[in-house]
Parts: sequence; C-alpha cells; structure tokens
Amino acid sequence: MENKLIIAGPCSAETEAQVMETAQKLAKSETIKMLRAGIWKPRTRPGSFEGVGEIGLKWLINAGKEVNLPVITEVANKDHVKLALKAGFKNFWIGARTTVNPFAVQEIADSLQGKDIDSVLIKNPINPDLQLWIGAIERFQKAEIPNIGAIHRGFSAFKTNKYRNEPLWEIPLNLKEMFPDVKMICDPSHICGRRDILEEVSQKAMDLEYDGLMIETHPTPDDAWSDAKQQVTPETLITMLEHIVMRSRENKNPESEALLDVFRGEINNIDSQILEILGKRMRVAEKIGALKKQNNITILQSERWKKVKEERLAFGLENGLTEKFLKRYLDALHQESIRHQTKVMN
Ligand code: PEP
Ligand code: MN
Repeated sequence: MENKLIIAGPCSAETEAQVMETAQKLAKSETIKMLRAGIWKPRTRPGSFEGVGEIGLKWLINAGKEVNLPVITEVANKDHVKLALKAGFKNFWIGARTTVNPFAVQEIADSLQGKDIDSVLIKNPINPDLQLWIGAIERFQKAEIPNIGAIHRGFSAFKTNKYRNEPLWEIPLNLKEMFPDVKMICDPSHICGRRDILEEVSQKAMDLEYDGLMIETHPTPDDAWSDAKQQVTPETLITMLEHIVMRSRENKNPESEALLDVFRGEINNIDSQILEILGKRMRVAEKIGALKKQNNITILQSERWKKVKEERLAFGLENGLTEKFLKRYLDALHQESIRHQTKVMN
C-alpha cells in the first residue's frame, strides 16, 4: 500500500482534542498519508450538525503539523476557500452536493486559481451523472489546478439495501478511462454507511487499481456528531488496512475477478429496476381495473392485447431478445395484469 494515497480522519472536526487524538493515533501507521476532517458539513436536511466552522481550521492544521501529515478539508464556496487558504490549507475536497452545482464548482475553481495549493479532490455528484463529474474536473483543469483527483463516494438512490450510496463501479471506471491522469480515490465510508463492509469495499477498490482511499475514523465512533455508523476507531482502521491484500498487476485474475463482481453488481441493479418497474406496471393495471369496474367493462379485451403484443414483440426483437422469450414473457405479463385487475374488480 506504500504507493497508495490513504486519507483518514473524522467525518467532522468536533473538538480540538478529538482532532489531535485522531491524528496521533493515525500517525502510528505509515500507511496513512493525509488527514481529513470536515469543518463545514453540507447536510441533506437542516437540524443535523453542520460543522464547527472556521475555528476548526487551525485544529486540523495544528494536528497535521504535530504528526507531520498534510491535511485536507471540504470547501463548498469562495468564503470557505478564503478562510482555508488563510489558515494554511493546500489540499481541498469538493463534496458530492457541490459537484452537482456548476456555479459552485466554478466559484471554487476561480477562487483557487493561481493560489499556492497542492491538490483538489472532487467527489462524484450525488446523482449518477458522469457528465457532471467530468464537468467539475474540466473546470479545475481550466483553472490550472495541480493534482486534480476524483473521489468515488457512491450515488444516492431512492431505495438502497446493502449500501448507503450505490457504488455503481462502472461510472468511476469510465471516468478513469477518460482521465487516466486523474487519481481515483475510493471513499468506502460514504459508499457503505456502515462499518461491517468497509473492508470488502476497500479491497475491491484496490483490486480495481484505485490510487487511494479516503476513510472516516473517530476515537469513539458511536459518539460521533455526524456519520457515526460508518466510522471506526483509528486502531480498527489501521488493522483493517493491514488486512487488505495488494495484488500484483502481472496476475490478471484478481482484476478480472473484481470486474466480474462489477458486472454482477450491474446485473443485480438492473434486475431490481426491472422488478420495480414491473410492480409499477401492475399498479397502473389496477387503476385500469378500477375504471373498468366503474364503467362495467370486461377485463379481457383481446383486440387491444393483440395489438400491444405485436408492438412489444417488434420492440423486443429490435433490442436483441429472442422471439421465444418474448412470447413467454408477454403472456406472463398479460396474465399477471389480469390477476391484478381481477383483484380490483372483485
Ligand atoms: C464527507 O466526506 O464527510 C462528506 C460530506 O461526503 P460527501 O460529500 O461524499 O457526502
Ligand atoms: Mn461523512
């Protein structure tokens, strides 16, 4: 892991002592290369802890000096940039809720242009939109910002099961292909939202040849003022990092194994989407059933179905599906629709 950029620190700076204690514990491992902490916290809903603000800047700067590690924090507007520069910051990350907003990104790029800085790491936008992520990178490139990196922190979904934010690995992999010089860092903390799968996701990122990790850690994770469920102690984090297997490039297998996982993940996602859409379709069928009931119309309208079937069959064939499958699928779909309509009518 020597050549990987491992960034660690609390989700939020809470107190001077918490920041210092975290830094000192992390510095025991040579694997940790940079300290992070959120000073201004963008929260999806008001009422959560929104960060200690300006006062925390010097806590992080001092902790970094004490343990001889560079520090990084999130900036979301030009005022943040101004204060962070004044406090001595040289590394900045752009949060997922900022990357979605080209005005904000441009404002930050403008206020960093020409300043003495080391790097800017750009989190993926909260929605799975590769173009927004690319756009943000391009805005910083235009401002001649050195060492632009990308942080993959997963994507929001209306419903998620395993992850807090769906990883959708194919999106960062696409970005990596388009911008080979932009370092790709994985943020397992915000992808997972929970402790027990941090290692699995970190391992996968390493198998996919990511350039580093950004992980949240807190001396007493359960008491953290933000993102408590996904934080681990610095000791646990260091042990976890020791467990990660670094596979060599020569052996092609682990990489294809990881890619296979990516594709399987894609299939899982698509299957859930198909089922969700089928459910939606049946809700519509039920509405039709209710209307038919009101107007005393029969359920089965074979002429209409014949036409629908022909159209769907043609569309399915265009999409590379076989006739055999399409016929069985369309019949099953029709039957299921009738079941839902009957349920409503009786
Ligand atoms: C964070 O890193 O603490 C953070 C707020 O992340 P994100 O922008 O990915 O939600
Ligand atoms: Mn966080």
